[in-house]
Amino acid sequence: MEKIDFFNKSVILRTDYNVPILNERITSTKRIDESMRTIKYILKQSPKKLIIISHMGRPKNNDPTLSLLPVKKYLEKKLECNIHFSTLETYISNNSNLIVEKIVLLENIRYYPEETKNISTTQEFQSKLSSLGNVYINDAFGCSHRKHSSIIGINTPIRCCGFLIEKEKKYLQGIFNRGKKYTLILGGSKISDKIKLINNLVPKVDNILIGGGMAFTFLKYFGTKIGKSLFCEEEYKLVPNILYYAVKTKTNIVLPKDFICNDVFSNEGNIVYKDSSGGIPQNFMGLDIGIKTITEFKNILNTSDYIIWNGPLGVFEFDNFSTGSKEIMKFISELSATTIIGGGDTAACCEMFNLSDKMTHVSTGGGASLELLEGKNLPGLF
Ligand code: AMP
Repeated sequence: MEKIDFFNKSVILRTDYNVPILNERITSTKRIDESMRTIKYILKQSPKKLIIISHMGRPKNNDPTLSLLPVKKYLEKKLECNIHFSTLETYISNNSNLIVEKIVLLENIRYYPEETKNISTTQEFQSKLSSLGNVYINDAFGCSHRKHSSIIGINTPIRCCGFLIEKEKKYLQGIFNRGKKYTLILGGSKISDKIKLINNLVPKVDNILIGGGMAFTFLKYFGTKIGKSLFCEEEYKLVPNILYYAVKTKTNIVLPKDFICNDVFSNEGNIVYKDSSGGIPQNFMGLDIGIKTITEFKNILNTSDYIIWNGPLGVFEFDNFSTGSKEIMKFISELSATTIIGGGDTAACCEMFNLSDKMTHVSTGGGASLELLEGKNLPGLF
């Protein structure tokens, strides 16, 4: 990016401002804050316009709760200037020369189906995006593993990645094969997204510690009663293959031995402790790992040189089920190992416990960070 002359150019910047929002308030601004270096660098070179494109969530029917308006307000405060905010269509139909603001933030680009789907109008949509400027900078690391229009379909004469992506590459690329001990911690609830990635990481790591909602699909395979805990029928079919591959590559897969359970998905309720020998009763669900699991995970982590973590080990948003994630996070933050945290919720969890500064790297991507670690070429990185 430092080789590009931005003076008087219209610059299209793709960012990932898919930030958690509660009651119109952004609860973690990390992804926006991390994009500041690229934005300030471009602005310093007096471009004609800086047009920022982002998505928010997975909107259905232009869901207004997924508007980028709260992001616009936060950006204005952060950059101390007014920002023009409109949809792509409105921006294109207006004369951009009449817009006085230097910075434009386009409304959630996923309000357009052409962003994520290849339909008859997708090419036309991509041409519209390309016509917005003469330089395209991708700094949306969190979705750079997706072949979406605003990631791969903007064809300007100059295209490049921003500083945020450069930083992610520095920490996530080529970390394996250094003769070190690698441990991957996997949790969270997006089982289908992550389970496929495990297969690719199995031969690269020494241990995979599985917790969170992920664990129950594995535990069921071993005959543990899981009650009404999170479970994915489709992904269950992949478990034998993963386990077979793990044995073949001598990778140690460790599942929880005990759980903190509840009869409702809530912080309150009938909270009970159960271990895997008796299993989880029918009307209960596992919402956190128990003390035996925490101790076993700590022993393994203690001997690791590299720790990669994606997905919380319990429903950390509920105080009564946050202990597993908190204990393990605090523990690894005090180790001398290289610690890499990935995934929006895991990063938010780290932020909530005030431990972000104690980790080697907190990635702004989830799936993208795992794919980059695997050694894949991501479509949005060029
Ligand atoms: P992910 O985006 O896949 O990393 O999932 C993060 C979410 O997983 C968080 O909101 C957690 O509350 C949730 N989670 C963690 N453990 C469990 C569990 N045992 N059951 C249900 N959800 C969980």
